[in-house]
Amino acid sequence: MAYIEPAPIKDKENPLESMMSRFDAAAQLLGIDEQMYHILKVPARQVIVGLPVTMDDGTIKVFEGIRVIHSNILGPAKGGIRFDPDVTLDEVRALAAWMTWKCAVVDIPYGGAKGGIACNPRAMSSGEIERLMRAYTIAMLDIFGPDKDIPAPDMGTSPREMAWLMDEYSKAKGMTVTAVVTGKPLVLGGSLGRTEATGRGVMVTALAAMEKLRINPYRSTGAVQGFGNVGSHTAALLHERGVTVQAISDLSGAYFNDKGINITEAMRYRDTHGGSLEGFGGAEKITNDELLTLPVDVLVPAAKEDVITMENASRIQAKMIIEGANGPTSASADAVINEKGILVAPDILANAGGVTVSYFEWVQNRLGYKWTLERVNRRSDRIMRDAFDKVYQTSLDFKVSMRIAAYIVAIKKVSDTYKYRGGY
Ligand code: GLU
Repeated sequence: MAYIEPAPIKDKENPLESMMSRFDAAAQLLGIDEQMYHILKVPARQVIVGLPVTMDDGTIKVFEGIRVIHSNILGPAKGGIRFDPDVTLDEVRALAAWMTWKCAVVDIPYGGAKGGIACNPRAMSSGEIERLMRAYTIAMLDIFGPDKDIPAPDMGTSPREMAWLMDEYSKAKGMTVTAVVTGKPLVLGGSLGRTEATGRGVMVTALAAMEKLRINPYRSTGAVQGFGNVGSHTAALLHERGVTVQAISDLSGAYFNDKGINITEAMRYRDTHGGSLEGFGGAEKITNDELLTLPVDVLVPAAKEDVITMENASRIQAKMIIEGANGPTSASADAVINEKGILVAPDILANAGGVTVSYFEWVQNRLGYKWTLERVNRRSDRIMRDAFDKVYQTSLDFKVSMRIAAYIVAIKKVSDTYKYRGGY
């Protein structure tokens, strides 16, 4: 008889299943009827294009470019473009839906979308990435638009790629269209404060959560997983507000110092060492698992999906988890985390500072005007704080976790709007 492998505990979930299980729980609590449930569940549009790109060695490689518009009920769709080897259609679908809920939670007039290309930008030259980005833009010419679908950076993309997108789109349209994409370089109509916006929102959320748990930031400790745009700015801003950031990490591993890591030094080291913390001297090297299970006050997963799982959830010692990444906690780990009484500020709330300042960028582009950094920060801080308070209050009203409360706030907003707009 053939040996049958025992079914493993499912700790790496399909992100779409993870998103849907929370959506289902919130929809049920809200008493959403079956028709509305299906309207909110099925993506409005899913586009997959083949992108032949000439590589530097002269060969032609065909990439698949995905764009999923989950919803445009609240307004034009909004969401980043991910360049990563692990990109799948289901992942992009989940990320697109998260954008819908995220925009609704912070009450900005956008639907949700996401784009993705399965590629490894670390192994590609700048010219190859540029050709890929321009090909993708042209293939999505009828999808993108300042009033239709507005992309932005996500994992593996940055202002540089947004500049290529804006330029290619503008050339094709025969006019400069800055508002078609956000997260652009400042000189091309980017907004002050956009680069650090997601990290700033995570910091504002962490401080709001500390207030609820009566933790003094100046006597608190933190660990941040991921040292990309979100993680590094989060760590720097938490440090600035008094938090002793004891651990950080990137693809090269995790770094620990119980007296606190000098984040400015770490950022400088990364920027002068090919974007990696490998060899960073201000700390001792630990594993990623050790970072996630440190006895700190605030844990910020700011890397990828499904890092807090059934396997490690019971060992997490942090008092609060502030989700900088999209979908860092697998749905199956929710119950364990809740049982332990850990406060979780979910992704669709905690990392919404990025899309909030994207919205400000789009507003400024349409006004042909530039806001000061002070105005951007003041307004985004207020939006983040108001959203936190609303989700926190909803979690008390419905006696649910802040995650389910955030979905309740979002689903209610989108379904109420749909009822006014109506269908066929
Ligand atoms: N990619 C970011 C996110 O997941 C930002 C999206 C945007 O600014 O449109 O929230």
